[in-house]
Amino acid sequence: MKKAVDGLILRELPIGENDKLLTVLTAKEGKLLLTAKGARSMRSKVMPICRLFTYANLEYYEKNDRRWLSGGSVNDSFFGLNSDIEGFALAAYILQVADEITGEGVEAEDILRTTLNTLYCIEKKQKPNAQIKAVYELFAAVASGFAPDLDGCADCGCRESETLWLDVMNGCLICSDCLAKRTGNLPLPEEDAYRARNILLPLDASAAASLRYVCQAPLSRLFAFSLAKGESMTQFCRAAETYLLNHLERGFDTLAFYQSVKETK
Ligand SMILES: [Zn+2]
Repeated sequence: MKKAVDGLILRELPIGENDKLLTVLTAKEGKLLLTAKGARSMRSKVMPICRLFTYANLEYYEKNDRRWLSGGSVNDSFFGLNSDIEGFALAAYILQVADEITGEGVEAEDILRTTLNTLYCIEKKQKPNAQIKAVYELFAAVASGFAPDLDGCADCGCRESETLWLDVMNGCLICSDCLAKRTGNLPLPEEDAYRARNILLPLDASAAASLRYVCQAPLSRLFAFSLAKGESMTQFCRAAETYLLNHLERGFDTLAFYQSVKETK
């Protein structure tokens, strides 16, 4: 029996002479693996729907415990991503993070929708790439169950301290006064009493407000805030990246690629 599903191509792996194994992100079933026979041949009718970044309606059938792509049509190819290397590199990183935080057979409606919105935002250059990247990283951390508690300092509850510190591994904030009390003004040891690494990142008022906004905003409004380039943006972006990578406990080759093309610009 033929089935059809809307899905975003997260990964394409060449197999055999002419085939591809696709990892597709869908709303209801999370990640699906689809074998696309002949997809690397120029004459293949499924070739246009088997490309990275493509959001397509995919028709498939099941046989021998595998799913085989039989046809379909493109909903959005995000073709504009190909015109800018930095945007392309960022989009590739976004897909790799989406791949990491989703599973086969696990519903992923919010993650699919937010990933599509993020690709659109990059393609249309609606916000600076650094901001888009940080927003998606925080979204991914929250979607994976690692939402930080950003209400106020974890020790005294204050919100108005000039500088707050993001305690990355404990997922909370601490103000400068309480940090000084904790350490007795000595340099922070590498690990805390619970043997978690001590990673504390400074946040000024704007950077802290942006972190709070993204972690609490409705998904359709995630990108709807402005932050001028400068120290606050730098702190916000560093916090988002460090937070996600340390909670996922891994790095990404696409992130290294994004950083290399960003630096040469
Ligand atoms: Zn405090």
